[in-house]
Amino acid sequence: MHIEVDSHTHTIASGHAYSSLGENVAAAATQGIKLLAITEHGPAMPGSPHIWFFKNMRVIPRIMDGVGILRGIEANIINGKGELDVDDSLYPYLDIVLASLHEPVIEPSTKTIHTDTVIKAMSSRKIDVFAHGGNPIFPIDVDEIAKAAKAYNVLVEINNSSFTTSRPGSEKNCTSLAEAVGRHGGELTFGSDAHIACNVGRFVECIAFVERIGFPEKQILSTSSHSFMNFLQEKGKQNLEILLAQRTPSR
Ligand SMILES: [Zn+2]
Ligand SMILES: [Zn+2]
Repeated sequence: MHIEVDSHTHTIASGHAYSSLGENVAAAATQGIKLLAITEHGPAMPGSPHIWFFKNMRVIPRIMDGVGILRGIEANIINGKGELDVDDSLYPYLDIVLASLHEPVIEPSTKTIHTDTVIKAMSSRKIDVFAHGGNPIFPIDVDEIAKAAKAYNVLVEINNSSFTTSRPGSEKNCTSLAEAVGRHGGELTFGSDAHIACNVGRFVECIAFVERIGFPEKQILSTSSHSFMNFLQEKGKQNLEILLAQRTPSR
């Protein structure tokens, strides 16, 4: 299995990551990544960049070292209404919006409340990816989440860092979440959640995980940059012409 898209990465701009954009892109090129999403934390996370950072991502070339660049954000779900820390004026500048539950931003509660909160965020139609949903700090009803993800055309992320340095104990929940996505006909994406260049495009644990549970490769969107671009286009993302022009089917 080869992964062409890394849908979740951070640079030094996130405040607690350690590599530059150029270093991340070079690492992505080395790993054979064709599409790299730059997804710094949204403003509710301490140390995250100012809104101008996100609006000014248009200065980043669309293609660097042969790698297509997606201008993204890892938004925070900030309350039980499923609202995000993304100003409405920012969406036209973004190619991809991840939504996450983070302890410094929203207090862990009950499984029912987490599930309801995430489904409300999905139903807003503002998000493209639900990130690191296997976090045991924020248990969710995996069937309800998988059904909503399918209904609202949201990708469910399997986060490589959840198997290495972050969110210990995620694997069991990732298994039940991925299996639910498989049952309900949704799609996964892989995010390295790299906070340093050497982890960009590195999916050793994600690949071993899906092989172990027998998850169908055709339901992993990040195996194809072509399919990933089609997904973004279907979701109405603008200003993707240069990336769309270079897409070539690989599966
Ligand atoms: Zn996160
Ligand atoms: Zn992240």
